[in-house]
Amino acid sequence: MINPKLIQQFVVEPGTTVNLKHFVTDWTGTDAAQELGKDIIKERASEILAETRKQLDAVQELLYASDTHSVLLIFQAMDAAGKDGTIRHVMSGVNPQGCQVYSFKKPSAEELDHNFLWRYMKALPERGRIGIFNRSYYEDVLVVKVHPEWLGPGQPTKPDANFWEKRYEDINNFEKHLARNGTLVLKFFLHLSKGEQKRRFLERLTNPDKHWKFSEADMAERDHWKDYQTAFEEALSATSTKRAPWHVIPADRKYVARALVADIVTTAIQDLGLEFPKVSEDKLAKLQAARARLEKKDPPETAETHES
Ligand code: AMP
Ligand code: MG
Repeated sequence: MINPKLIQQFVVEPGTTVNLKHFVTDWTGTDAAQELGKDIIKERASEILAETRKQLDAVQELLYASDTHSVLLIFQAMDAAGKDGTIRHVMSGVNPQGCQVYSFKKPSAEELDHNFLWRYMKALPERGRIGIFNRSYYEDVLVVKVHPEWLGPGQPTKPDANFWEKRYEDINNFEKHLARNGTLVLKFFLHLSKGEQKRRFLERLTNPDKHWKFSEADMAERDHWKDYQTAFEEALSATSTKRAPWHVIPADRKYVARALVADIVTTAIQDLGLEFPKVSEDKLAKLQAARARLEKKDPPETAETHES
């Protein structure tokens, strides 16, 4: 487990105004990290990922057995920040029946005809499960804030500040509702530098195995970098709460981002203090009777039982 004091620097303190420049994108460049050296950090990060994988699988089983809570993990970021890879690495040890991933794309006409939270509500994890939102209702105050023309029919064409304030309020109320109903919500902003995004886009253009990942639409969004950073700062400031905190994860080094997310998720679920359900006296007696029956010597199998 990573020292909780170290993790604290990545949490957006509720009620504070976020300036993303104050959050690092490359943690290996910090003084503390430079003392350790990159090789040691890389090695330690892979150990943390391996350790937490086992712990996450165990705690997911407990989540399922206790059937009192669900977990919702939200990932938001600029393009090429590593959302997919982080989700794949962090969840790779977990029973596939215990988790579900939803990737949200541009909304359909039907989705745009409903309230903006509708399509996300339908995808929420049931009790006992870990649900992952690869993009989420936060897109509705991020990409849509940068491109208000994508708000859809029946919506203002020039939304004012009050329009966005109300959306933040809706989101906070929605997350309060989720918390009250036993959903642990954890939110991750994978914080990438513009330089590292350029490097990753160039890699997609250079390496034939990565050509498929390149999207001209992503290039167009890169031109709005500053607007996106502002939209992220405003959303993070307005919606980081104790019950559903935002984490700003340095994403320029994939191994750092993965280890941090894995540790934060595992620790938060462990901190729920879940317990396996206690079996009643009556059920215990039935278990003992079943055990006694199984331990009795079986009668020899007849031809009939073979056929059936
Ligand atoms: P990708 O994650 O690369 O598959 O891209 C999904 C695209 O859908 C991104 O360009 C997102 O900005 C876009 N998207 C996701 N949610 C919304 C939304 N609520 N409104 C508009 N665009 C969205
Ligand atoms: Mg994309």
